[in-house]
Amino acid sequence: MYKILIIEDSRIFIKMLREKFQHTSILQIVVAETLQDAKTLLQSKKDDFFLALVDIHLPDAPHGECVDLVIQHNIPVIVLTGEFNEELRSRMIAKRVVDYIVKGSMASLQQVVNLVDRLIRNHSIQVLVVDDSRSARSLIVDLLKSYKFQVLEAEDGAKAMKQLEDHPEIRMVITDYHMPVMDGFELTRQIRQKHDKNQLAIIGLSSFGNNILSARFLKRGANDFITKPFVAEEFFVRVTQNIEIIEYIQALKEAAVKDFLTGLPNRRHFMTEGEKLHAFAKKGTITLIAGAVDVDFFKKVNDTHGHEAGDHVLKKVAGVLANHANQTALAARMGGEEFGILLINRDTQAAKAYFETLRTEIEALVIDHHTEIIRITASFGVCTEHGYSLADMLDRADQKLYDAKKNGRNRVEFAE
Ligand code: GH3
Ligand code: MG
Ligand code: MG
Repeated sequence: MYKILIIEDSRIFIKMLREKFQHTSILQIVVAETLQDAKTLLQSKKDDFFLALVDIHLPDAPHGECVDLVIQHNIPVIVLTGEFNEELRSRMIAKRVVDYIVKGSMASLQQVVNLVDRLIRNHSIQVLVVDDSRSARSLIVDLLKSYKFQVLEAEDGAKAMKQLEDHPEIRMVITDYHMPVMDGFELTRQIRQKHDKNQLAIIGLSSFGNNILSARFLKRGANDFITKPFVAEEFFVRVTQNIEIIEYIQALKEAAVKDFLTGLPNRRHFMTEGEKLHAFAKKGTITLIAGAVDVDFFKKVNDTHGHEAGDHVLKKVAGVLANHANQTALAARMGGEEFGILLINRDTQAAKAYFETLRTEIEALVIDHHTEIIRITASFGVCTEHGYSLADMLDRADQKLYDAKKNGRNRVEFAE
């Protein structure tokens, strides 16, 4: 749960914001309408706020006093303002607010939502800051923390490489050039031998008037650079853009191996992973069992309750399969109402128990679709011999599935 403090006297604006955030169940909004309210709330210390949205013009605080109050409590601030001017902007940026948003349009409301969403995502992203100067490092660390990133530090390239080894989740490295032991170029070069640009972003820090530094960072594989001294806004935008590119590529990669409707791995993923497993099985390193699953009389669900209800049923069935998938059990949607399963290193007895569990759990599903209750069953065909190829194995599982249908459905048939 993320608690967000909104200090704002416009009830209409609060109402619109609440509506915008309605769809997310991970947010809790706490409202203060005056500086006095906010003071009481923060002094009580009963809430742990993730961030605050603060209107700079309040009846009892017309000059942004609330911003100072919230920052004193170490809560990152997004400033809401009715009007924009340059003097105000620089005053707010100097206070180290995350950003400021000019209210007044639907677009600005969406901007608030996007920004809050960004900060929540940042909360699970690790960034490594590499600089030998403690003061330069802490400036960047503080900025990143106000954007809610998880921040790690290193004082030279060698220590940074060690941090990367210890924290494989790191998604971005921000590095200075000039450092003892290992400089920023060598660090960039070494990182790129292990992690590509689409998994781990590198931003090089170069100093003003030394353009060649930026070019050399990019040539060694950095995604971007920032010239020191920088304004916080540029820093935030560059960091965000680079993180978003990585997230976008990650999402594309996931989409390529995931079934859109159910979120299970798709056929393509099942076949590529399955081929690798089958090769191990042929060498005798592992044992492999393949299962084919097909929902019974599924066409009738569509015909009786509609296609949307059919989709709902598929998601529920996939949910059962996903609950039992793990390191040694791969489940995928092969297409339509058919699913595939590969079990690694299980004997026939264990496989029987596994498929029997799936069968009974699917049979027990009570699917609530609008006002209707839908019940379904599924049939299973299983092949326990790895045979010549994965395709051959799946064929034999399919033949057994056909037998299961013929023998009355809602049953598991084994080819041993
Ligand atoms: P059986 O017990 O013999 O398997 O009968 P069945 O009705 O389940 O099998 P059949 O292959 O005749 O029908 C499968 C139906 O699944 C036909 C198709 O329209 C429907 N279907 C395939 N993909 C989807 C989907 O993504 N969503 C929905 N709602 N229906 C789908
Ligand atoms: Mg079917
Ligand atoms: Mg079918």
